[in-house]
Amino acid sequence: MRKKIVAGNWKMNMTLDEGHALVAGVLKGLPELSNDKQVVFAPPFLNIQHTVYQVEDVQHVHVAAQNCHSEVSGAYTGEVSAKMIAACDATYVIIGHSERREYCHETDAMLAQKTDVALDNGLKVIFCCGESLEIRDAGTQNEFVEAQLKAGLFHLHKHQLANIVVAYEPIWAIGTGRTASSQQAQDMHAHIRSVFAAQYGQPTADSLTILYGGSCKPSNAAELFACPDVDGGLIGGASLKAEEFLGIIDAMVKA
Ligand code: PEP
Repeated sequence: MRKKIVAGNWKMNMTLDEGHALVAGVLKGLPELSNDKQVVFAPPFLNIQHTVYQVEDVQHVHVAAQNCHSEVSGAYTGEVSAKMIAACDATYVIIGHSERREYCHETDAMLAQKTDVALDNGLKVIFCCGESLEIRDAGTQNEFVEAQLKAGLFHLHKHQLANIVVAYEPIWAIGTGRTASSQQAQDMHAHIRSVFAAQYGQPTADSLTILYGGSCKPSNAAELFACPDVDGGLIGGASLKAEEFLGIIDAMVKA
């Protein structure tokens, strides 16, 4: 059975103290998580080690970095390597978020390299994909997302897919309050799964966790998570308030 995950991407929010209070609030209200369910916090780099210590005794709760560099090490001032993240005992790294693709000009080739370096260092990857409104309006979203996944992930061997989670995040729904309808999310998630099935076989595709991201909140999470191919969410804004994040976690637990 594939894993269900709710992951909170804090982006460039939360000081150490604020992050501590947020995690403490979530842990206080956390429902029991069965073996097939996980909660992930993705704080800024500076909070990672502290967050790892905070959750280390809590089952099925993990920490992710929001990015890593594509090179192993070297003269890259201001950057953080996958090895450093893994050394903090983080479990995941988010790769290919649309904000990094846009603002940091991250290319498909860089993202494929980041994926490799992350996996080589024992991290699991939450790989983001998703189309702009322009592409959605043109009706070519399936081809676009398929191309992103092929370029970023399809060089991997089948056994490596066990350490990949895909997050479908339509750019037009991120931070806009405009969520994809559950039908739009289900259609794309089913398409993504079929693309992996064609490349790696149905059993591998069936075990792939595919998250939805984009203005997911407690009021729409249950409907989204009820879709057969939606295995949880990557949450931005609503992960910054314990009560809201818990509402979404609750929807995953009940789905
Ligand atoms: C995100 O950026 O990963 C995201 C899903 O943001 P939001 O939930 O705020 O739309």
